[in-house]
Amino acid sequence: MSMRTVISNAEVDGRLVSVVVEDDVITAVDERPSSGETGVIDAKGAALIPGLHDHHVHLLAMAARLEGVDLDALEDADAFDRALRTAAASVGDGWVRASGYDEHRHGALDCRRLDALVGATKVRVQHRSGLAWVLSSAGLDAVLGDGIPTGVELDASGKPTGRLLRLDAWLAERVGVTAPSLQNIGAQLSSFGITGVTDATHKLGAGRAEVLRQGVQSGSLPQSLTLLGVNDDERSSVEGWATVGPMKILVDEVVGLDVDLLAKQIEDHHSVGRAVAIHAVSRAETVTVATAMALAGMMPGDRIEHGSVLPTDLDSLLAAGGVTVIVQPALVSERGDHYLEVVDGEDLPFLHRAATLLEAGVGVAAGSDAPVTSANPWLAIAAASTRTTRAGQRLGATERVEAATALGWYLTDPLDPSGPIRRVKVGARADLCLLDAPLAKVLADPNASHVRNTWARGRLVHS
Ligand SMILES: [Zn+2]
Repeated sequence: MSMRTVISNAEVDGRLVSVVVEDDVITAVDERPSSGETGVIDAKGAALIPGLHDHHVHLLAMAARLEGVDLDALEDADAFDRALRTAAASVGDGWVRASGYDEHRHGALDCRRLDALVGATKVRVQHRSGLAWVLSSAGLDAVLGDGIPTGVELDASGKPTGRLLRLDAWLAERVGVTAPSLQNIGAQLSSFGITGVTDATHKLGAGRAEVLRQGVQSGSLPQSLTLLGVNDDERSSVEGWATVGPMKILVDEVVGLDVDLLAKQIEDHHSVGRAVAIHAVSRAETVTVATAMALAGMMPGDRIEHGSVLPTDLDSLLAAGGVTVIVQPALVSERGDHYLEVVDGEDLPFLHRAATLLEAGVGVAAGSDAPVTSANPWLAIAAASTRTTRAGQRLGATERVEAATALGWYLTDPLDPSGPIRRVKVGARADLCLLDAPLAKVLADPNASHVRNTWARGRLVHS
């Protein structure tokens, strides 16, 4: 039996229409009122838009943050200490997992500080960037076998400090991938009108992919998934429940930058028809990536993740190559005050650019990088259109864009993030977001509370 939904009096592309959904497809968009039918949802003139797509998230880290100790909300070192002592007191012989650690607010951290707080409890604390961990001594004992891999920081005497850099996948293997519930994450994303996400986790691996598969197939995660961290030889394991996107590559100034090696990697992926999605944050990193892309050549679908400091002299190259920059507008609000304190004056004009990228013809789309910033796209749309920090300062006022432009960064196809905006039209997949007012009114005050209903593949997932 097919499932049928009718939404009447909806504002679609500026017209009032009735939209009919059968199963997971839009089958009619009609200006005549749908009279006489029962079960019709009256939009009362409010906007019906395509479901939003967040082009860069980390689903399992989001779920783990909900279940572990969330340090992001804690303002200082004392609050950090209290939270870890409390968590250690109740965990027994399991792990305490904390995330959102920020050295600027919570103070320097190594295994000795952790041991003083938690004694013999196994603790792992994730840096807010997601790229580094600090473990207690008991935690280190549990994961370190005979060999010490690169990335485990050692002190002058050769003993581990507790700090692990870029060992996320390695650590996940050793502590065992717990299966955090994706139900809450799915519901939260639905409440924002999000019907699809691109998970950008580097080297996702079979264990973590399996947790995502279960989330999708059980229906607890209703969003359509695109995955960047899947190797070519793992493609078949993803078939039927997720789409494989460009290949995620990390470059890291701290570890060392090698333009020729990166160009070779890009070429290898391109040669099998796979675009690349390269993580680059600092000026040295973005310059290296652009240079390597110029050497290797670019292909449709290539992306730069973050591009936090992006010098304008790279623009023409990126524009000509059709590269999309996946920006994170929420950082302007959530981290802007900190940037204004610590970022080099030289880099400030190139920090989290948006408007000038578009003017230069560079493709732009948005991702939250959740849990690094909030997964709420409406906060990001507001930040992109005001460039205002939490404390009310302006960051890069010339990079301001219209709220409608920023919304568009969430309405594109996951495999063509800066391409055409998806539309509510016959034949389109029924990923829909019904707002509570006409679009112009919502965009004047971008806010998740305007999201009234969300349908993912025709199924009502938020009301
Ligand atoms: Zn990320």
